[in-house]
Amino acid sequence: MKAILNGLGFEKQSKYVRDYFFSTNMRAGIYMSIVIIVLEIWMIIRLTVKIFTDNLQSQFRQLFKTYYLNYLILLFMGTIMLVYATRYISGKTARKSTGMIIQWLFTLVCIYFGIKISLNDYSKGEQILTFLTMELFALCLLTWRPYIAFIIASLSYLYFYYRIDGMIAVNTGEHGTTVATQINFFIMWISTMMVCIAKYNTTREQALKDEDLEKINAYLSKISVEDELTGIHNMVHFRNEAEKLLGYVTTDKENIIFLFFDIENFKSYNEKYGFHEGNELLIKFAHMIDDLFKGSLVSRFSDDHFVVLTHVDGAKNIIGQLSGEIKRLQKEVHLELKCGAYKPVGDEADISLACDRARFACNSIKKHYDRTLRLYDKSLEDKFQLKHYIVNNIDNAIEKGYIKVYYQPVVSTEDGCICGLEALARWEDPNYGLLSPSSFIEILEEYRQIYKLDEYIIEAVCRDYRNSADEHRPFAPVSLNFSRLDFELCDIVGYLCETVKKYSVPKNYIDIEITESALTDQQDFLPDAIRNLRSFGYKVWLDDFGSGYSSLNVLKDYHFDVLKIDMKFLSGFTSNEKTRPILENIVRLTKELDMISLTEGVETAEQFSFLEAIGCDRAQGYLFSKPVPLDVLREKIASGELKISKEYMSA
Ligand code: C2E
Ligand code: MG
Ligand code: MG
Repeated sequence: MKAILNGLGFEKQSKYVRDYFFSTNMRAGIYMSIVIIVLEIWMIIRLTVKIFTDNLQSQFRQLFKTYYLNYLILLFMGTIMLVYATRYISGKTARKSTGMIIQWLFTLVCIYFGIKISLNDYSKGEQILTFLTMELFALCLLTWRPYIAFIIASLSYLYFYYRIDGMIAVNTGEHGTTVATQINFFIMWISTMMVCIAKYNTTREQALKDEDLEKINAYLSKISVEDELTGIHNMVHFRNEAEKLLGYVTTDKENIIFLFFDIENFKSYNEKYGFHEGNELLIKFAHMIDDLFKGSLVSRFSDDHFVVLTHVDGAKNIIGQLSGEIKRLQKEVHLELKCGAYKPVGDEADISLACDRARFACNSIKKHYDRTLRLYDKSLEDKFQLKHYIVNNIDNAIEKGYIKVYYQPVVSTEDGCICGLEALARWEDPNYGLLSPSSFIEILEEYRQIYKLDEYIIEAVCRDYRNSADEHRPFAPVSLNFSRLDFELCDIVGYLCETVKKYSVPKNYIDIEITESALTDQQDFLPDAIRNLRSFGYKVWLDDFGSGYSSLNVLKDYHFDVLKIDMKFLSGFTSNEKTRPILENIVRLTKELDMISLTEGVETAEQFSFLEAIGCDRAQGYLFSKPVPLDVLREKIASGELKISKEYMSA
C-alpha cells in the first residue's frame, strides 16, 4: 500500500530528492522553452505573412485576439522559463520558489494554449493535436508528482471535453461528441497519466540512487579528512592545508609555528579507567584544543598526540590554558601536558619534518615535571640530526662493523673473581665518535629497529666465545640485554638458539637480561618468551630491579634466576641512610625467592664490602672495570688487575 502511495507521489521527499526533481524539470524546461520560442516565432511570422499575402489587414483585431495574443503569451512564458532555467542550471540563482511559480505558469499557459487552439481547430473540423501535444508537453516532459498530474490532466481533459461536447460537429452537423471520440479521449487521458506515473517513478528511483551515492561520497570525503574518534581533522587534512598555507605568498612565515602536544601519562589513565574513559578524555581534549586554537590548523596526530599550525602571538597563553585544562580532567592519574614548538625557517615546506621536529622538542621535556613547553633550537637540532643518522645508518653500521661489544665484568662477592660478563653495545662511528647506548637504544626502539642490534650482539658474543675457546683464552658467561621489542619484532629466541648452535656455545655461557620496565605493560607474549628461554636452558635475569614502579609485582608474576638491583640504590649509599636496610631486605628477598642477587653500579670499596656483608652474591661496577673491548679485558686479566674464576680461565 505504502509503495503504491509512494509511486503516486504521496510520499515525503527528502530535500535532495526535491532538488533533484526540480533541476531535472529545469533542464527539461530549457529544451521545452526553446522549442516553444522557435515555434511561436515561426507561427507569428507565418501569420503575419498570411495577413499580408491574403490582404487580411482589416481582420487584424480579430486575428490578434484569436492568434497573436496566444502566441505572444506563450512566447513570453517560454522566454521567462528559458531565462530562469538557464540561470538556475548555471548556478546564478537558487530561488526555487520563483522557479516553481514559473514552472506552474508555464504548464498552465501551455495547456491553456493547447485548449484554445484545439477548440478553434475542432470547430473547423480539424484535429485536436495541439491540445494533445501540449498535454504531453507540459505533463510528461516535466516531472510532476502523479497525483498533481492527475488533477491538472483531469481538469484540462474534462474542460476540453465539456467544451467540444457543446459544439456542433462540422462534418456530421450533430451536436456533441460521438462514443468513439469519448473512448479516444478517455484512452488519451489514461495514456497521459500512465506516462506521468512512469516518468515520475524512474526519475524518483534515479534520485534515490544518486542520493545514496551522494551520502556515501559525503561520508568518504568526511572520513578522509576527519579523525574518527575525536571528530577533529586528521593528518591528511593537516598536511594538505599546511602545505597550501606555507605556499601562499601572503602567509606571514615569521609569525607561524608548529606545535606538537602529548598528554604525558595518558597510558596510565587508560589502564586505570579503561579505553572508554580514555577515549572520552581524548575527545574532550581534542575539542578544547580545536576551540582554543580557532582559526588555526588543528589535527589529531595519533593516540594522545595533537598538532597545531598557528601564529606565534598568543600561542603561549593558549598552551598554558590547555595545560590547566588537562589538570582539571586528570582525576587520580597525574596527567601533564607537554608541548614541543618548531618555527619553520625560510621557505621550508616539509610538513612531516616540521611535525617531527616539534615532536622531538616535545619528547625532550618528557619526565621533566616542571616544563610544559620546549622550543626546537640548535641543541635539539644536533640531537635530531643524530637521531636521523642513527635510524638511517643502523644497517650500515652493522655491516661495516661500527657496532662493537664491550664487556663489563661481574664479580663474585665470595672471592672477588669475575664470574660473568655483561655485553654492552657501543657504536664507534667515523663521524660522531664513540656513541653509548643512551644515544641509540631508545631511538632504535622507537623506530622498531632494535632487534637488528640485538641479533648482531648475539652473533658477536657467540663469535667471541668461539674464538676464545679455540684459542684457550679466558671467557666467562655473558649476559645479553634483550629489548622487550625483540620478542615482538623477530623470533629472537629462535635466532639465539641457532647462533648458539652455529658457534657451539654451551648454554650456560649465555644469560638473558630483561629490564624491569619491559614488564610493566603486561603483554601476553613476554611471559611465554621468558618461559621459552628458560625451557631451552637459558637463565633469565631481571635487570634494573627497583627502577620502575612494578618491582614487587614482577617478582610475583615471573620467574627469574638472577635479580640485578638497579644502581640507583647505591647512588644514595652515603647520603641516604635508608639505602642500606632497603638493599639488605632486597637481598634477603632474593634468597627467599631462590634467586641470585647482583648489585649494579658498585663504584667504591666501601659499597662492595657492604654488599659482601649483607650476602649479595655478585657485584658489577666501575670499581672493577668499566665496559671494555674484549682485548682490553684480556689484558686486565693477564696483568692481574682483574681476577677470573678458575673454571673460566680457558673457555
Ligand atoms: P644496563 O643493562 O643496566 O647496563 C648497565 C649500565 O650501567 C651500562 O651502561 C654500564 O656502563 C653502566 N654502569 C656499569 N657500572 C657502572 C657504575 O659503576 N657506575 C655508573 N654510573 N654506571 C655503570 P651502558 O653501557 O651505557 O648501557 C646503558 C643501557 O643500555 C644498559 O643498561 C642496557 O639497558 C642498554 N643496552 C646496552 N647494550 C645493549 C644491547 O646490546 N641491547 C639492548 N637491548 N640494550 C642494551
Ligand atoms: Mg643490563
Ligand atoms: Mg641495569
